[in-house]
Amino acid sequence: MKNKALFLDRDGIINLDHGYVYKIEDFEFTQGIFELVSYFVKHDFLIFIVTNQSGIGRGYYTAEDFNTLTSWMLSKFEEHHITIQEVYHCPHTPDAQCDCRKPKIGMIETCLKQYNVDLNQSWLIGDKPSDIQLALNAKIGKSIAISETRLSGSTYTFPNIQTCQEMITSIKI
Ligand SMILES: [Mg+2]
Ligand SMILES: [Zn+2]
Repeated sequence: MKNKALFLDRDGIINLDHGYVYKIEDFEFTQGIFELVSYFVKHDFLIFIVTNQSGIGRGYYTAEDFNTLTSWMLSKFEEHHITIQEVYHCPHTPDAQCDCRKPKIGMIETCLKQYNVDLNQSWLIGDKPSDIQLALNAKIGKSIAISETRLSGSTYTFPNIQTCQEMITSIKI
């Protein structure tokens, strides 16, 4: 049987986007994120993170910095009984013309090689047009934009994670 998946952007979704966050002390979880992800876990979704981290390619921080922060972040999810299956990241700058930087679908293709995922039954939550475009490009069934304004192509839009978490129970996922 195929799995449903939830693909989460990181900055602006899991943590407040202060711009190129790479230190644990700068990483602030968004209000309601653990409850929101728990709801998807309860409904048998596999959880993945797909994140553009051009700060690595730009030399603002190292791959090791990113890995250290990721391990810490995953331990915080585990404290809330949430297992994140994988964290996929693109370390490249836009100039590098890689195949993994959102809205390109390389990270989703990698996921499909590793997990038996039904994209049509899957969801993506992001805060940028490139996230919503990724959902469209990869044919991920539904997408939620966390944004003050509607992002074109998204299925739902909520102004913040807290509101999304409060409303999600009224949506069939
Ligand atoms: Mg973001
Ligand atoms: Zn890349």
